Amino acid sequence: MNQTLAPVTSGANMPDYHDACSHFAWADVEKAFSWHETGKVNMAYEAIDRHTETWRRNKVALYYSDQERDEAYTFQDMTFLSNRFGNVLRNIGTEKGDRVFLFMPRSPELYISMMGIFKIGAIAGPLFEAFMEQAVRDRLENSEASVLITTPSLLDRVPYNELPHLENIILVGEGKAPEDGDVRFYRFEEEMGKASRDLTIEWMDREDGMILHYTSGSTGKPKGVLHVHNAMIQQYQTAKWVLDLKEDDIYWCTADPGWVTGTSYGIFGPWLNGISNLVRGGRFSAEDWYGTIEKYRVSVWLSAPTAFRRLMAAGDDVVKQFDLSSLRHALSVGEPLNAEVVHWGMNIYNLRIHDHWWMTETGGIVIANYPTMPMKPGSMGRPFPGVQAAILDEEGNELPPGQMGRLCIKAGWPSMLRSVWNNDERFQKYFPVEGWFESGDLATMDEDGYFWFEGRDDDVIQTSGERVGPFEVESKLVEHPSVAEAAVIGKPDPVRGQIIKAFVALKTGYEKSNELEEELRQFVKQKLAAHAAPREVEIRDFLPKTRSGKIMRRVLKSWELDLPTGDLSTMEK
Ligand code: ATP
Ligand code: MG
Repeated sequence: MNQTLAPVTSGANMPDYHDACSHFAWADVEKAFSWHETGKVNMAYEAIDRHTETWRRNKVALYYSDQERDEAYTFQDMTFLSNRFGNVLRNIGTEKGDRVFLFMPRSPELYISMMGIFKIGAIAGPLFEAFMEQAVRDRLENSEASVLITTPSLLDRVPYNELPHLENIILVGEGKAPEDGDVRFYRFEEEMGKASRDLTIEWMDREDGMILHYTSGSTGKPKGVLHVHNAMIQQYQTAKWVLDLKEDDIYWCTADPGWVTGTSYGIFGPWLNGISNLVRGGRFSAEDWYGTIEKYRVSVWLSAPTAFRRLMAAGDDVVKQFDLSSLRHALSVGEPLNAEVVHWGMNIYNLRIHDHWWMTETGGIVIANYPTMPMKPGSMGRPFPGVQAAILDEEGNELPPGQMGRLCIKAGWPSMLRSVWNNDERFQKYFPVEGWFESGDLATMDEDGYFWFEGRDDDVIQTSGERVGPFEVESKLVEHPSVAEAAVIGKPDPVRGQIIKAFVALKTGYEKSNELEEELRQFVKQKLAAHAAPREVEIRDFLPKTRSGKIMRRVLKSWELDLPTGDLSTMEK
């Protein structure tokens, strides 16, 4: 299983990895932007208007489709529409630095609004449409947002009369607006119709706030992570090299803008590179997804391990019903990508699925597998040129290859978080060792400089004097033909410190039984190591996940131990 996959040897954007690293300087990347000379910057200008000033004006910036809509918007369309929306915001008194939140399903209006928000220098706060009242309240309260853009049907979950900072709500689509209360209501369509399509953009300082993302909540209460316009440097260059975007690509990122992948690489990365970006609304189904790739001739596809595992569980026959020959490059992020899934992808799509690692706080990719690099399935890859990553011990010393420790990034990469909103104490905690950002993940680096994810800091298991990363055990379980997904936790044990307990969801066609549970135990014992074999295996119908598709081990743990479950606002219901 531990084989290395050959790199793509020609046609990829990135030069040889070592060459790229030795010549790389972030200051050179800035030269791609207009503000190289002026010093004044705006994400919306670089992502949209800059292309409208060139031959790309008639190129499609956004393809949008769902069960009801099927639309295309050129860069020129996006310029005019986002100008209009910027004017709508200005007309109702929104100012530079104000927080404007977006709480709605994926739709062209969401993308137009976000660009309009940036154009007037306000800070965008995207929220998952599936959030319930408490989640919405917490985030609007913490950010002191003054404007909310939402839909009439989601308004039930917005306690607008109890949010003193919220002054205006803009409703997108049909439905009734309430008339009571102190909040002023506007209709998106009506206001857009009245607003001018010309706008004077707010030129920003590179360090001015741009987007406020609350983290996924896998390990606890979400934190409001602030990113600034400067982040574009990283988003642009990583999209070019890791996503390997080229002029004629049709790029599809399946992530919702409610979490960071859906903005950094669902909006900014592709548009900063002038690439046509596809957004598909609605729910996941293997047929729908493959149909989408076929219909739009998607060439670059970014998704998450949970989605790839679901596609794998859907069976290989579905794949054969579609023409997926347009696909050139596939990527995965958000959770560890099991080697098994990479091998399956090679067989079924004839593509390597490129794992890469980053988090809300890093704002952009920091560790990745590149097309031009030999790939080791199961590894997250190597640091992006200009980024320094290391494995540190508790005291902040760098550990040699092969030893598990804290995955840290040298502070100062362009898209690093600039604050945690209203919580400076939390922000400081990211930097326990001078000059280093601590991710909260545990990993190992090998002799070749590849990083291997072991587990979240809190999830690593101490059993009979050994430290076991849950990911290794989970990946082994997923190799078993019956297993669709697995989550492993440590359970307190008087003798061993902790014992390993595995929760498993089966593929269609397999039934829960004591024999199968025992077989899975033995499978890990024989294929991995006796000490890593789960003492307990429990087959469940589903595993608790965040809306962004991450398995919530802390929830399994609290269910198992009868403890309070903590913040569940981001859990998928
Ligand atoms: P919270 O911080 O609120 O608990 P979260 O960490 O899940 O939530 P995100 O910022 O969306 O919120 O996720 C980042 C985390 O996702 C990383 O710290 C890591 O644990 C995991 N992750 C992302 N990409 C990968 C990857 N390629 N391999 C392994 N883990 C990954
Ligand atoms: Mg996190």
